[in-house]
Amino acid sequence: MYRTNAWSKYKGNELEKLMVHNEKYKAFISVAKTERECVTQIVQRAQKKGFVDFNEIKQKRTQLSKGDKVYHVNRGKNVILMVIGEESMETGMRIIGTHIDSPHIDLKQNPLYENAGLGLADTHYYGGIKKYQWVALPLAIHGVVIRKDGSSEKIVIGEHQNDPVTGITDILWHLSEEQMEKAAGNFIDGEDLDVLLGSMPTDGKPAELVKANIIRLLGEKYKISEEDLISAELQIVPAGSARDFGIDKSMVMAYGHDDRVCAYAALEAILDVSECQHTNCAVFFDKEEVGNISNTGASSMYFENVIAETMAHMGTFDDLRLRRALSNSKMISGDVSPAVDPIYTMISDSKNAAYLGKGISLNKFTGWPGKVNSNDAHPEYIAELRTLFEEQGIYYQTAEPGKVDLGAFQTIAYVMGAYNMDVIDAGVPVLNMHAPWEIVSKADVFETYLAYKAFLC
Ligand code: MN
Ligand code: MN
Repeated sequence: MYRTNAWSKYKGNELEKLMVHNEKYKAFISVAKTERECVTQIVQRAQKKGFVDFNEIKQKRTQLSKGDKVYHVNRGKNVILMVIGEESMETGMRIIGTHIDSPHIDLKQNPLYENAGLGLADTHYYGGIKKYQWVALPLAIHGVVIRKDGSSEKIVIGEHQNDPVTGITDILWHLSEEQMEKAAGNFIDGEDLDVLLGSMPTDGKPAELVKANIIRLLGEKYKISEEDLISAELQIVPAGSARDFGIDKSMVMAYGHDDRVCAYAALEAILDVSECQHTNCAVFFDKEEVGNISNTGASSMYFENVIAETMAHMGTFDDLRLRRALSNSKMISGDVSPAVDPIYTMISDSKNAAYLGKGISLNKFTGWPGKVNSNDAHPEYIAELRTLFEEQGIYYQTAEPGKVDLGAFQTIAYVMGAYNMDVIDAGVPVLNMHAPWEIVSKADVFETYLAYKAFLC
């Protein structure tokens, strides 16, 4: 049952390919820090490889046929790339599903206030974060503001070298005696994750002049008013680019590896497809971190609707054929796994845990307690994947997230399993998962891309 370290496979030219791939991934993840930014990056790359917006096909009433490449964007936050296969849709598709939302901190709809002569923004965090990890570090603001007339303004503050950053302050060590008594879970109160935006008052009557100055700056730079923040999604995320990690440069540290590292692998894999037997799909969902809900999450009808539209544009749609297409499909739920941390080995069963550098991690089940809400992939399907990966020399390992009863994990796998398709969780092992800066092995980033590529056929 020993798994060899994937690095042993990489010498010379192969090592070079792995490193180039990781440089491209670092460039992607450094600019794709929100769902919308991920969708923009994915669509740009897809267009370059000949993928066409499905809306164009719909308008022109053109038929889809084998080899056609299309993309579908759902509200700017969820995207599906498809390559039409040689066989009919009814024989099933090959689907890689990932999510492009990551834990972050959202501004509230009425965020701005002034206190102690400082201008701040009130927030509500998104997803599973350890709140104490988000204070006293440089943060950036990414997002979009929609004005009443429907026009929109993209905002990114804190990424360029000359940009200011923002952040959340913490109590100085000297006066922390009371705070240090608290348990880590309420060490920082959720309501106290407010970002500091400014300290310089504007001219005028002496009332909230610092806040007034921030509003003035937003108006000048972005032509938005305070009220426009009602219809905005502004996310507070770690500021800065992905970096090589470790003095051997074998790892990547970045914000949002969960799950953009698997999303990127799926993207590169489907961009490589020129012709395929089965219709190939790469689906990039929103809202996984909060339970797969909403019309852009995996529980939405959107994916099913897209498959129905595709079949309609091939002249093969009816309800039964749609159900067959979904039911006969095979899917990889591409999501990250916690990697064994040498400092905290007590949370893992060492025989059934993912290790950095040992390749893509297959997770038969997640779930808690007693696998509740887990997909639990069937052994017949796992056997197929073992054969496939071993034939292609792909390094894989098998794992479950942690020791029994330690905590809860959920992915999109069980949601898609409801279509009766075969699904398994398989993705990149991560250290520091859900922390502002997560760590992955470059070897696993590349092996996961190769595994997804092998799966598409
Ligand atoms: Mn995830
Ligand atoms: Mn997650």
